[in-house]
Amino acid sequence: MINYNVDKKGFYGDFGGAFVPEMLYPNLNELTLNYVRISKSKSFKKKFNQLLKDYVGRPTPLYFAQSLSEKFKCKVYLKREDLCHTGAHKINNTIGQILLAKELGKKRIIAETGAGQHGVATATVCALLGFKCIIYMGEVDIKRQSPNVARMKMLGAEVRPAKSGSRTLKDATNEAIRDWISNPVDTHYIIGSVVGPHPFPDMVARFQSVIGYETVNQLNELENKSKPDYVIACVGGGSNAAGIFYPFLNDEDVKIICVEAAGKGVNTGKSAATSILGKEGIIHGSKTLLMQTNDGQITEPYSISAGLDYPGIGPMHANLYKSGRGEFISVTDKKAMEWGLLLSQMEGIIPAIETAHAFAILDQKKFKKNDIIVFNCSGRGDKDLDTFIEYFKL
Ligand SMILES: *Cc1c(COP(=O)(O)O)cnc(C)c1O
Repeated sequence: MINYNVDKKGFYGDFGGAFVPEMLYPNLNELTLNYVRISKSKSFKKKFNQLLKDYVGRPTPLYFAQSLSEKFKCKVYLKREDLCHTGAHKINNTIGQILLAKELGKKRIIAETGAGQHGVATATVCALLGFKCIIYMGEVDIKRQSPNVARMKMLGAEVRPAKSGSRTLKDATNEAIRDWISNPVDTHYIIGSVVGPHPFPDMVARFQSVIGYETVNQLNELENKSKPDYVIACVGGGSNAAGIFYPFLNDEDVKIICVEAAGKGVNTGKSAATSILGKEGIIHGSKTLLMQTNDGQITEPYSISAGLDYPGIGPMHANLYKSGRGEFISVTDKKAMEWGLLLSQMEGIIPAIETAHAFAILDQKKFKKNDIIVFNCSGRGDKDLDTFIEYFKL
């Protein structure tokens, strides 16, 4: 059997690893030596599960979408991560990492954020457990995402602008890494997706795997089956996808579909379809697929949804792409926006624009009548209301 999960050295096939400056070795070493042991310990699991239940609101429902199922002639289920506290799956990971930081005796948390969603999820758990919280955010993003900046401040976090380069996510990430190098003893860096150097991709995937394991239990109850025919998720860095794929990675009866943001179109120069447009390279300490120029400069990605415009994908997904285990489909801004409206009106669920991308594949792909299709409904659309208002002149 082929293993699509991480190996002992922190690789997924050809991808992953930890390609970082020597000064970061001690920080990563401490994590690598401890993350599995701590996260598997009884006392950690008890605290983690308790918070997921009482604070996040888990388990999230697995909802049978009647109207979509009738229209597309298959069985469509939605895993309702949009119902999590703070509105998306990101909180599963930040809860896991803050508990880990606590076990490691850390006092101070840093994080990077693009649209601000991960910043808010991090500031939330820092408020919950009384940690000092510093969020690095590109100066351009601070201007574009002012409601999330306000949320982080309300939650007690300090938002530090990244003023170099394009002043967006990748620059914020560079600043966060610099901070971590300077503060190796008291600080933990909470990365927001299955990206970055080992052990981050595996650690984040494990914390998000609660999505997939709940799905297994819920399918058993609802369908008397422990596996669906397809699992489908949008992919920015890849954490909500990794979470729902996790129990099925090595079970090829379950087909995996990753949906990327085509932006204005894959060949328009305004896209975030990283697998198709990307080449192998190293970004943020990880060998993966990323969008780059011929001489290896990272290309600025574009998508109408802030959560999908990361120039790379996590190493797990790069391997799913290269090996053919996952099918990769890209969806334009236009299709995603239309599906945001369609899902709202067919099911009464206003999705995040990221999430809406995943559903748009129903127009592109045919399923069989009894196929069980599980979409990861990664987040809700409240944060995107202004974009919807402007786009549809509501
Ligand atoms: C951040 C975000 C994503 C993209 O991140 P992944 O790590 O790829 O999951 C998708 N959906 C929502 C709602 C998000 O907030």
